[in-house]
Amino acid sequence: MTESVLSTFGITKRFGAVTACDGVTLDLRPGEIHAIIGPNGAGKSTLIAQICGGLRPDEGRVSFLGQDVTALSTRKRAQMGLGRTFQISALAMEDTVLQNAVLGALGARGGALGLLRPVLGDADLRARALHALERAGLADQARTRTAELSHGQRRQLEVAVALTLEPRAFVMDEPMAGMGSEGSAQLTQFLSDLRAEAPILLVEHDMDAVFALADRLSVLVYGKIIATGTVDEIRRNPEVQTAYLGE
Ligand code: ADP
Ligand code: MG
Repeated sequence: MTESVLSTFGITKRFGAVTACDGVTLDLRPGEIHAIIGPNGAGKSTLIAQICGGLRPDEGRVSFLGQDVTALSTRKRAQMGLGRTFQISALAMEDTVLQNAVLGALGARGGALGLLRPVLGDADLRARALHALERAGLADQARTRTAELSHGQRRQLEVAVALTLEPRAFVMDEPMAGMGSEGSAQLTQFLSDLRAEAPILLVEHDMDAVFALADRLSVLVYGKIIATGTVDEIRRNPEVQTAYLGE
């Protein structure tokens, strides 16, 4: 058995009468893309928030790199190497692409992560940022104002910014959202290459991307995982077809 990088054990989150997550147990293994799919309101974003630390589960726990992180802040989890991208972009639109990447490398973005990171010289920061931009296919746009990027390029930049912190695992909430087919093909290739470096827990509505990328997928319906398996296993699962895929 391969040791998991990231796991949840029976996490439950209630909002009043709504049980948004109901005893969710899943794991993310080295080298894989594990996709979470499910209809709107299934609890996907609530699940991600508990994994990243924005929400505390009512029950259950979250483990990262063999450590129980359930009580740790978002910042602390990020410092441990939990990289994430957001459903709603958190980029500074008036800054250049490179500035956004440098801020990411500094760890200053989204809550002063840099405080506990070793202090880096500017040259190091820029080199790290440029390297991430190159990998994301954005090196030529380094000096472009972020607002001028296409939607797809901004999504690539989101991943590049996360990459500058050299994460041990990625958590992504709908990175393909609102993308055209060209942009999503490019991002699909980028994520496919990225998994060898750090496994990816991927919440995504774009089924073409999910079927192309996922090593395993879990189906979340009304806060519960009703099935986990390979793409083939999930497509053949009659319960999944009834509840979600409608095939
Ligand atoms: P998904 O991301 O799969 O669309 P969410 O995790 O956003 O689903 O939501 C799951 C359920 O929890 C929904 O019924 C939603 O209305 C509810 N919910 C999510 N966040 C809150 C909140 N902060 N307060 C109250 N209800 C919430
Ligand atoms: Mg959501």
